[in-house]
Amino acid sequence: MTYNNADMNITVVHDNNSFKEGLETAWGFSCVITGLEKTILFDTGGDGSILLGNMEKSAVEPNSIDTVVLSHIHGDHTGGLDSFLENNPDVTIYMPKSFPAKFKGKAQEFGAKIVEVEQSLKICENIYSTGQLGRLIKEQSLIVRTDKGLIVITGCAHPGIVKIVNRAKDLIKDDILLPAPVVPAQVTQAQVVMGGFHLEWATKGKIEKIISAFKRLHVQYAGPCHCSGDKARRLFEKHFGKNYINIGAGKVITMADLK
Ligand SMILES: [Zn+2]
Ligand SMILES: [Zn+2]
Repeated sequence: MTYNNADMNITVVHDNNSFKEGLETAWGFSCVITGLEKTILFDTGGDGSILLGNMEKSAVEPNSIDTVVLSHIHGDHTGGLDSFLENNPDVTIYMPKSFPAKFKGKAQEFGAKIVEVEQSLKICENIYSTGQLGRLIKEQSLIVRTDKGLIVITGCAHPGIVKIVNRAKDLIKDDILLPAPVVPAQVTQAQVVMGGFHLEWATKGKIEKIISAFKRLHVQYAGPCHCSGDKARRLFEKHFGKNYINIGAGKVITMADLK
């Protein structure tokens, strides 16, 4: 078993924050994870034409994707799915079991295979779902295991960002998902937490509590984007310094970026 994912890249193809010139921004989130056993599209943003346009500008071929993971049902994460499937229906879509039957049926009509996610599960070597968490809005997050630690990617983090990070660490540490009896300690560290943290309307005090929790959990890098809000982004930047990842449409994160 290897955790050395030196070729892994995460490319943000849909976000309401801008990063690279030429890419369009719109409310929502989507990123593509390449260089592992499967090529994964995590969420699809709110707008299919922006998603596909930004993928093209980021040199990500829709046909290179074999797996789609949808965090939760909100339109700013699922809105681009139909346009994507029109280009490449030959994918397996991991979606929370709680998704409406109509939504699942439509994806299948395109020809996609669907996997309904309830508990945590392994998607492929070194990529896991937390399983659907939360009460009102069920949401799954993605965990990428690397030799530098875990990368946790969230859509909107409706169940709570700290709860999600704890869950991700517990899953890997407790060996629920892994056949190997011993996992090196470093591999169970949450190295990077990125995505929507759902802090747009949070007070400074609440955001600082979350930052303290991240520090206690030994999160090394934080990349709040999408629904994290500008206030939280500034505070995370202040507290994480050079380990703050400025995420927007067109941002690429490589393993070489992580120490
Ligand atoms: Zn969202
Ligand atoms: Zn949402």
